[in-house]
Amino acid sequence: MRRQGIGAWLVAAGLLAGCGASGTEMAAGGTGAERSVPAAGAAGAATAAVESGQTPAPAGRTRVVLLGTGTPGAEPDRSGPATAIVVDDTPYLIDFGPGVVRRATAAFVNGVDGLRVQNLRLAFLTHLHSDHTAGYPDLILTPWVLGRRAPLHVYGPPGLTAMSENLLEAYREDVRVRVGGAERLDPTGVRVVPHEITEARGVVYQDDLVSVEAFAVPHGTWEHAFGYKFVTVDRTVVVSGDTGPFDGLVEIARDADVLLHEAYTSAAFYRRNLGTRRYHGTFHTSATKVGEIAARANVGMVVLYHQLHLAGDSPEQMVAEVRTQFDGPVFYGRDLEVY
Ligand SMILES: [Zn+2]
Ligand SMILES: [Zn+2]
Repeated sequence: MRRQGIGAWLVAAGLLAGCGASGTEMAAGGTGAERSVPAAGAAGAATAAVESGQTPAPAGRTRVVLLGTGTPGAEPDRSGPATAIVVDDTPYLIDFGPGVVRRATAAFVNGVDGLRVQNLRLAFLTHLHSDHTAGYPDLILTPWVLGRRAPLHVYGPPGLTAMSENLLEAYREDVRVRVGGAERLDPTGVRVVPHEITEARGVVYQDDLVSVEAFAVPHGTWEHAFGYKFVTVDRTVVVSGDTGPFDGLVEIARDADVLLHEAYTSAAFYRRNLGTRRYHGTFHTSATKVGEIAARANVGMVVLYHQLHLAGDSPEQMVAEVRTQFDGPVFYGRDLEVY
């Protein structure tokens, strides 16, 4: 498979071993000197690659495609947070971090036909943090320039409408020239239809293939942050979004096939200063806690994404922490993997 070929190349180049600290950490008072990246070619890196190489190829109609597993950190091998759930050939995006359209196209090139660029017309946003939204103008404009003829529908927290309108205003000249100039593009494809979610929990979208439920999660000082539960024709996938420890997820994710959850490593957490711990303790969830939630919810598998490596901790350590609580399959998600 092409995907594995690319993964093997990355492993050979030592690139998959690098999981540095995030920009969030820096914003919370960390210093560059505290950052540490596992050495390329370290024994642990090979283990993580094996872990990754064993991703279960989904046999059914629903695939979870990791478009970007990154954080605010500008890591070359981890694009900004973005996930696609693809049912048959229909893609449902969750978040649009920087790089989203190119990663979707990479997945298309890898064989996920549903992610052809013109198909990107439905997205669900977890919250307005810039690492999750910096790809928004890309998602609005690029598929349109490349032939999308339908409006883009986006579901997300209050503030989404203002962000959408302001972005279109920012790109007003581009749109004006492409519509009124020689390109003669159909303006329908650059239309954005925002749907702001105000209920703490409820189904926000439904079609023949999927029902999408949004649920409020605690994300530090954000007033509105959501996770999403996708019940498709053959699978249930729960995406945590960015969240602090959230016991309510046990009931929401009960018996789900896949729990895609953010994480940081607890051991590294306690080596950090108080300010950093105060930030991450309420904005994010430790891998140990992810394992506890997964076990109580009896999910089919855990896939980690938006992994925060706070103090030189390795992917293996993060996975091991989940495993102290949960004895099902645990995967350290990497960009362009398919579950
Ligand atoms: Zn984030
Ligand atoms: Zn966030």
